[in-house]
Amino acid sequence: MSILPSLQADLKKATVKELSDCIKAINKKINPHHSLTVSGRKDEIINRLVSFIATLLTQNREETLVTLVRIVNENAPKKLSWNYENGDIIIDFVKPKRDSSTNIENVEFVANPFLKPMKRLTAIKICPVAGQSRQSRAFEFTLTEEDRKLLATNNTVDDRPPYQIRFYCARYAGRTDKLEVEFPNICELKVNDSVIPGQNIRCLKGRPGTVNPPDLSVMSKKTAQNNLELIYINSSFPFIATVYIVERTPVHHLIDILKKDRILSKGDVLKQLQEVQEDADIIMESETLSTKCPLAFTRIVTPIRSKSCNHLQCFDASTFLTMNEQTPTWSCPVCYRPIKSWEDLIVDEFFAQMLLNTPRHIDSVRVEPSGVVTIIDENPDLARRDEEDEEDEEEADTPLVKTEPEVTILLDDDDDDDVQVSYGSPYHATDTINIPIAVAPTPFEKPGPSCMKKRPPPTADFDVQPTRKRTKKKSDVIDLTLDSDEEASS
Ligand SMILES: [Zn+2]
Repeated sequence: MSILPSLQADLKKATVKELSDCIKAINKKINPHHSLTVSGRKDEIINRLVSFIATLLTQNREETLVTLVRIVNENAPKKLSWNYENGDIIIDFVKPKRDSSTNIENVEFVANPFLKPMKRLTAIKICPVAGQSRQSRAFEFTLTEEDRKLLATNNTVDDRPPYQIRFYCARYAGRTDKLEVEFPNICELKVNDSVIPGQNIRCLKGRPGTVNPPDLSVMSKKTAQNNLELIYINSSFPFIATVYIVERTPVHHLIDILKKDRILSKGDVLKQLQEVQEDADIIMESETLSTKCPLAFTRIVTPIRSKSCNHLQCFDASTFLTMNEQTPTWSCPVCYRPIKSWEDLIVDEFFAQMLLNTPRHIDSVRVEPSGVVTIIDENPDLARRDEEDEEDEEEADTPLVKTEPEVTILLDDDDDDDVQVSYGSPYHATDTINIPIAVAPTPFEKPGPSCMKKRPPPTADFDVQPTRKRTKKKSDVIDLTLDSDEEASS
């Protein structure tokens, strides 16, 4: 109950009228049967209020406390700004006049690989808790000659400007570092004559950090003063907000960084798998990997995954980064674990080599516990067309790694009777990856995305390629896993 003296001191800032309004609202909304006395000296009213709060805290009446905090904030909006969190009332000391105090001069948002704040354009402002009545915070800035030059920089990489003006906002709980972009649940942002509606800046499933700071570049005036207003209601947390000029990093620049500095060598990949296997004490079984990205259902070009994930399956760097540039969810599309930092991403050399040694028409391969990679070829007829495609695309692709004769190529008609076929140099049926590995089967045995299954269902991929549809039918006939009666009757 050490909070009580602080509450008592804080309440003294309110006027007698505000305090008695609080008690009236409490009597109406919380305490209709045991009304607190409204009249009396200021000290008496405060003591009454504090002892009532003490009772609620002792009884752990969370919902009532949330309502009470809201009543206090609403009735003394300029003097008091409380917050109820984890069983405690927090006094925020958030007063409009103190907004520019030095303790919030250095805010730092969680690093976003696509957007890097370069220069702050407005004051950093705290947006206090809001009840039923509308709250708003105004921001203004005028671009300097230097800002205009920066914003006019041409982009040589893609068609979007490399510098932008963006509005940053985050929940404020006293700390100013590692802030995750988030806006009050019900809000709108006015930018000069334009309005950014709340639904455009809402986090995904209420998860902070899953929304981008909105781009104000085209709405901003180049020479005149820019006026912004964040309007919101019903916010039980204060927010902190400001405007920056940011530098944008295009997706393929990030891919270049990954390919240059973040390659996890094949040896390390296999070593890690062995460690997982030893720790897990799981029976060794072969695993199926898809050559297609679980996000785009197209063949992976640059195979990446998080270094903290325990699976071999990768996803495509370009697809993953493009999606996260739009909506920064940062979760693994294979095991759905959060990827805490983009720096956790690695290019998997083992997977890259597997891709390089696997014909284009192949959707999946099997990795044996011994490290041997077996190609599962369900459409051998496509092999010829595949070779032609590869010749066409050879010049476009920059291989990540050199082809090494370390993958066994097996033509796989069914599970029990593998026919080993050498495609000629650099493939040799007897070649294996000579590192004994044990792959933990659990991550792959779970029903994962459809692309990870050995026989993917006819998705859009088949629908858009009529020739492929035809050959798939053909492969169904030779698939011994199908029921023969079913085949005959169809
Ligand atoms: Zn994962």
